[in-house]
Amino acid sequence: MSPRSVVGSPRSVVVVGAGMAGLATAWFLQEAGVEVTVVDRRGVAAGASWGNAGWLSPALTVPLPEPAALKLGLRRLLSSSSPLYIPPRPDPRLARFLLAFTRNCTHRRWQVSMSALAALNRSALSAYDELERGGVAEPTRKDVACLIAFTTEAGRAPLVAELDAVRAAGQEVAYDLLGGSEARELEPALSTRVEAAVRLHGQRHLNPGAYVAALADAVRDRGGKIVTGMEVARVRDVGSGVVVLAADGTSVRADAAVLASGAWLGPLAAPFGVRTPVQSGRGYSFTVPPEGLPTRPTYFAERRVVCTPLGDRVRVAGMMEFTAPDRPLDRRRVQAIVNAARDLLPSADLTRRTDEWAGPRPCTADGLPLVGPTRSPRVHVCGGHGMWGIALGPLSGRLLAESIVTGRGAPELAALHPLR
Ligand SMILES: Cc1cc2nc3c(=O)[nH]c(=O)nc-3n(C[C@H](O)[C@H](O)[C@H](O)COP(=O)(O)OP(=O)(O)OC[C@H]3O[C@@H](n4cnc5c(N)ncnc54)[C@H](O)[C@@H]3O)c2cc1C
Repeated sequence: MSPRSVVGSPRSVVVVGAGMAGLATAWFLQEAGVEVTVVDRRGVAAGASWGNAGWLSPALTVPLPEPAALKLGLRRLLSSSSPLYIPPRPDPRLARFLLAFTRNCTHRRWQVSMSALAALNRSALSAYDELERGGVAEPTRKDVACLIAFTTEAGRAPLVAELDAVRAAGQEVAYDLLGGSEARELEPALSTRVEAAVRLHGQRHLNPGAYVAALADAVRDRGGKIVTGMEVARVRDVGSGVVVLAADGTSVRADAAVLASGAWLGPLAAPFGVRTPVQSGRGYSFTVPPEGLPTRPTYFAERRVVCTPLGDRVRVAGMMEFTAPDRPLDRRRVQAIVNAARDLLPSADLTRRTDEWAGPRPCTADGLPLVGPTRSPRVHVCGGHGMWGIALGPLSGRLLAESIVTGRGAPELAALHPLR
């Protein structure tokens, strides 16, 4: 008899991490009648799930390691104004991650990871529809196409090739190519430096902090507990269940556990055989009043700066900094976003910014999430979504909840196995 059939379907699950991944898993476990407790060292959306750009864009959800990443070159990576920045300090774990990441920057590896992501991307938005039908109060916005703007047509070519590759991997991708003036007709805030754009249809966006808070409310309303201020130091499989132990001696007991602690996953998951490193890829954001900014989600791809309307303000986000998740916010990085956006959005007053924020994307070297079982039949993982944990978090939560309850993983989860 396999350990899983001995364990059976759990009646109670403790989820470590109240970000999108953990709360979505908790919500879908509740759908199957499981009692859930979600614990977080700080609170709801205390990690990457708060200040991100909130794009639900399956057409852009592609593996981070790609051949073009290597072309950036080491000198640019060490500059604090570069969109991809590696602070120059000795860090053997980071060196190992970067080596593995580099090995994945080939066309063949990209295609392998892309076909695994395409299987997820096709259903990613349906998981949001299910959350909406189930009563999660915060909406997702479906009514506007997003815009990806470039300063030259040549700059646009790699994105067009990528969208065609995503389509070849089996996803629906609908876009139009626009010239600079057509882009400005849609978005008068864009400067004349914008000479080419892609209008991408069928994507959505949301206010991530508000959405994750609404998801937490839904979990509570359905009888789930959310325990904040509990920093989990260790998870133990005690044979009859699991015990989640905090540094201060408090504990939570349940039949099974889900580790969804974002960029902090490594130390909790390693005792259960999870060897794939999860590296923090920190990004930055702030919000500004909407005057002089785009009215639709807009990405300045060459500068790696993204703007997302969030009601009465616009979030401006960007940067990827491979550094520890808890390091203090580096103001030079905020300034680098401002400098990168300035000539593209000449009427925006980016000095009126509030909510300056840094958050760690949980990145894996092969660009695929970690979703599924571990060496313990009672401990599961939902994480490692890198750049795309908001778009994919609900679907991962749904697939993981099904696999925990039925003991059978969906075919889409095969490539995401946490013990790979
Ligand atoms: C600038 C930026 C822009 C982004 N834009 C997008 C986007 O447009 N679309 C998209 O899909 N994705 C985007 N992302 C990525 C997305 O934000 C992440 O992939 C996603 O939020 C990860 O969710 P998570 O639940 O796995 O982790 P997190 O949200 O980081 O949650 C992990 C939680 O675990 C808790 N925790 C950690 N350790 C412990 C412990 N020991 N005990 C208890 N609790 C613990 C933390 O406090 C945290 O609340 C962006 C990220 C950044 C930084």
